[in-house]
Amino acid sequence: MDIGTKCVQAGYRPGNGEPRQIPVIQSTTFRYESSAAMGKLFDLEAAGYFYSRLQNPTADYVAAKITELEGGTAGMLTSSGQAANFFSIFNLCSAGDHVVSSATIYGGTYNLFAVTMKRMGIDFTFVSPDATDEELHAAFRPNTKALFGETIANPALAVIDLERFAKIAHEHGVPMIVDNTFPTPVNCQPFKWGVDVVTHSTTKYMDGHGAQVGGAIVDSGNFDWFAHADKFPGLTTPDESYHGIVYAEKFGQGGAFITKCVAQLMRDFGSSPAPMNAFLLNLGLESLHLRMKRHCENALKVAQFLQGHDKIAWVNYCGLPGNKYYDLAQKYMPNGSCGVISFGVKGGRAAAETFMSKLQVAAIETHVADARTCVLHPANSTHRQLSDEELIACGVGPDLIRLSLGLEDADDLIADVNHALG
Ligand SMILES: *Cc1c(COP(=O)(O)O)cnc(C)c1O
Repeated sequence: MDIGTKCVQAGYRPGNGEPRQIPVIQSTTFRYESSAAMGKLFDLEAAGYFYSRLQNPTADYVAAKITELEGGTAGMLTSSGQAANFFSIFNLCSAGDHVVSSATIYGGTYNLFAVTMKRMGIDFTFVSPDATDEELHAAFRPNTKALFGETIANPALAVIDLERFAKIAHEHGVPMIVDNTFPTPVNCQPFKWGVDVVTHSTTKYMDGHGAQVGGAIVDSGNFDWFAHADKFPGLTTPDESYHGIVYAEKFGQGGAFITKCVAQLMRDFGSSPAPMNAFLLNLGLESLHLRMKRHCENALKVAQFLQGHDKIAWVNYCGLPGNKYYDLAQKYMPNGSCGVISFGVKGGRAAAETFMSKLQVAAIETHVADARTCVLHPANSTHRQLSDEELIACGVGPDLIRLSLGLEDADDLIADVNHALG
């Protein structure tokens, strides 16, 4: 099946006389005929539902769709993108472990890694998304357990050379984890390039209507945990909290990562999505292939308009010929990248503020990847605790405006930015 057909139909196939739309199983718990039958679930001897903190059928239908879209072997939903990224790392790491990550990532993820997970004893080395092979190799340590990056970084819009990064991760015996939120699997399928685990903030394009906060994790099933058994004891040695099962043995290479993540991390942290949110997410997924095309078209048209405007200092969009990341974007996302662009208005911070206040179609919001065009000045909002020097160092200069093009008509969007620049 093609990606568009999967967006509409994958993950849920009703039987005779069953609901055509995914049922919302709004139930915390599930009934069993005997304690013995339920016991099998607790021992991970049988698959099934017993408590929605761990798993819920509505969420699993949607997870199955996202897994098919990414071309993975197993997947799960989480209550947010933050939870997805946290779980993807914490499923592999304990106190004393180390991770190499691109420095140019979503601010919330950076804080999670550099501050909160550091307090848990997990150390991160941040590298440039443009790091050379030598720089990447030098960042690895004997206790490194993963390499992490974003396909297209939010908001810096840097593109990772997925194939090269994944190869280097594998040379060090660790998986490459990629946050694929911005391109979505419609525009990029990282598993085709050697990436092992993909995460998403489904809050963004996958939902696309600003209706739910959510996340997803998908496993490619390609990473051989036993080949590096000493690095990943959580997957290759007995879990005493489940009567000594060994995940990579019992659930195989395709199932171990996600089963462990649900059985341990969902059980203990409970970052489970509400069934209704999973349902809303699926409504978004049904049109993802159509919407991504329109978001990308609108982004390119507005980027081209801004590039020719005499009040604009610079435009950053990886879909724009001449952009630093254009060639990488063409390689990994030949059909379009994402609908988010950034640019600087001549006159810096003050000019950016004036521009923002004059917009009528685009709304000032802490959000991206929505049906409605939205705009943000990070130096005055998400990044306001940083000095100008720190802003420049993290790739988000004081004049940077992030514009997320929605599904409106391109002519109206161009007229709006043109008016605001006037
Ligand atoms: C928004 C975002 C996140 C965090 O997701 P939430 O759903 O807000 O928790 C993570 N990564 C990227 C790339 C994002 O854009």
